[in-house]
Amino acid sequence: MSRYDEEAKYDRPRRHTRPRTKDRPAYDDAVEGVVITRDRGRYTCWVGDTSTGHQVTAMKARQLGKQGVIVGDRVKLDGDASGDEGTLARIVGVVPRTTLLRRSADDDDPVERPLVANADQLVIVVAVANPEPRTGLVDRFLVAAYDAGMRPLLCLTKTDLADPDPLLSIYRPLGVESVTTKLGSEPAELREQLNDRTSVLVGHSGVGKSTLVNALIPGAHRATGIVNEVTGRGRHTSTNTVVLRLPDGGWLIDTPGIRSFGLAHVNPDRLINAFPDLAEITADCPRGCTHNETAPDCALDEAIREGRADAARVDSFRRLLASRTEAT
Ligand code: ZN
Repeated sequence: MSRYDEEAKYDRPRRHTRPRTKDRPAYDDAVEGVVITRDRGRYTCWVGDTSTGHQVTAMKARQLGKQGVIVGDRVKLDGDASGDEGTLARIVGVVPRTTLLRRSADDDDPVERPLVANADQLVIVVAVANPEPRTGLVDRFLVAAYDAGMRPLLCLTKTDLADPDPLLSIYRPLGVESVTTKLGSEPAELREQLNDRTSVLVGHSGVGKSTLVNALIPGAHRATGIVNEVTGRGRHTSTNTVVLRLPDGGWLIDTPGIRSFGLAHVNPDRLINAFPDLAEITADCPRGCTHNETAPDCALDEAIREGRADAARVDSFRRLLASRTEAT
């Protein structure tokens, strides 16, 4: 039974109420799909599992009004969802999102721009050398992942050029998981971490991101059908999001157009919630505490002195806090 059926069951009209169909249709025939591209008013959705499903083109039903529908959203489709040529389904509902990756255009612009819904993990691709790793940028990607409610995964590339350990040690106090890849070899560790998950891949140019994508999904950027590009045409910022099916199950979302994440929208409290042990300590902070190094009477400092918190972990958390407002 799909999640939609379950919801429909609980939504049945009760005695003495008007039939639901009078004020809002119940869409008993609606099927669920995942939005894989958005191009102005048209949405391409994937219905069924990754190997046997099919594409459906849809538009938003009027009753959704201004409700945003983005890549990764699970939507209810009414009308012709066969995906046959020339057919157009209607998106009549959006399932509540489990995660939401967002960014602001830059750090002075607090308007958040939703990017991808319902992704499980943010794979941060960083080369150990050539180009030199930009840890400030990695910190910002980590903040974006924690803010989104996604699991961050560091993917260190080109580990045949340098020892990955110095770089990994920076992120160890935060408990960030990692995989490594070598030039020209099969990314087996990464493949395993992507299996049956929806992952968003980020990283700046030159780190080997597109090489990875091609190794994971041969011919990815040439394949027909589900490989699409979405451009925010006519907008102030244009971004590219490419949704790819992984051969063994799961989705890989590449972000070739995204150079960095503006983080002006990130609230420190939302960030600290990603670290439950630290969040518990900050319950004793003075009202409005910013939790940074200079914050007076921050409970994190007392916890370090009393041995209840690990200094390296608190320092790393504070580095992330600071990265929200530091240019890279
Ligand atoms: Zn504090």
